[in-house]
Amino acid sequence: MKGLLLLSGGLDSSLAGKLLLEQGVELVALHLESPFGCDTTADTMARELGIPLIRRPKGDRFVEVLKNPAHGYGSVKNPCVDCRILMFTLGREVMEETGTGFLVTGEVVGQRPLSQKKQSMSLIDRDSGMEGQVVRPLSARLLPETAPEKNGWVDRNRLLSLSGRSRKPQLAMARAFAFSHVPSPAGGCLLTDDNFRERLDDFVRFDDPPVVAPLLRFGRHYRFDDAWVIVGRDAHDNEMLDTLIADCGMGFHPAGFNGPGVFFPDPLPHNMEEIATGALRVFGKQIPEDPLPLEAAHGGDRYRVSFSSPAEDSPWRDAEHWRSHWRR
Ligand code: SF4
Repeated sequence: MKGLLLLSGGLDSSLAGKLLLEQGVELVALHLESPFGCDTTADTMARELGIPLIRRPKGDRFVEVLKNPAHGYGSVKNPCVDCRILMFTLGREVMEETGTGFLVTGEVVGQRPLSQKKQSMSLIDRDSGMEGQVVRPLSARLLPETAPEKNGWVDRNRLLSLSGRSRKPQLAMARAFAFSHVPSPAGGCLLTDDNFRERLDDFVRFDDPPVVAPLLRFGRHYRFDDAWVIVGRDAHDNEMLDTLIADCGMGFHPAGFNGPGVFFPDPLPHNMEEIATGALRVFGKQIPEDPLPLEAAHGGDRYRVSFSSPAEDSPWRDAEHWRSHWRR
């Protein structure tokens, strides 16, 4: 019976897969993509393990979980218990498609305070309809025997009893298995990153739609009463935001002079013209005289516009006004 490995691309899930492969268990990997576009090395690690990889979006259901987590948040804005219930539920659906008979995860008892306590693990298994069907090779000997172990599909005696937050045993195992790529022990989940806390808080507070979720990773974000403005920090930000905003807002780029891209997620504010030119005057260098020639990008179309800057005493030309609305 094949197993379905939930492969985040981090060290623990990769090692969990390796432990089962070493005892001859056949695996298919499933990577569930966050709408926030978290960094991942899932492709690299599936190649390292030599197993096929299926990618599926966590989708809008994940955004709902983020906004209303029945079991609360972890240390940042990470609704880990509800997220795992969703992941196991999605995994169950893929098990049916792939003819795999159980789930495999890289969870370690006690590693995360919210979702990796024994009690939380059994709640997650129950609420996702996966009770007794989830093998956690790194901590299996500390947990009740699962159906795949009872059925002899997995040899419990060759599984481990790791617990706690230390990653030293995992790093030693990666060396022993001679992994050519050792992923970072810390996962790439944006929701656990304290640097994004304010943006995530806003995303929940303003009840933003899922389509704008990927924008959170790029640029400097400013939230005013009736406008959300993103200013590119560099060429990479400008390029990424330009692509992403096509589905969910409007962007302005300097035409023929240097300066940042200025992006407005929907709903568009009525005074975009003065906000965009104000941002260019505050964040740009050597901005030409008015009217400013800009390239507007909207819904896949691009066209030239020229806008006048706000008056000298406008708050949109005041760096402090922008700074006080900056969202980390
Ligand atoms: S760290 Fe992120 S991806 Fe992992 S369970 Fe928590 S919210 Fe979900």
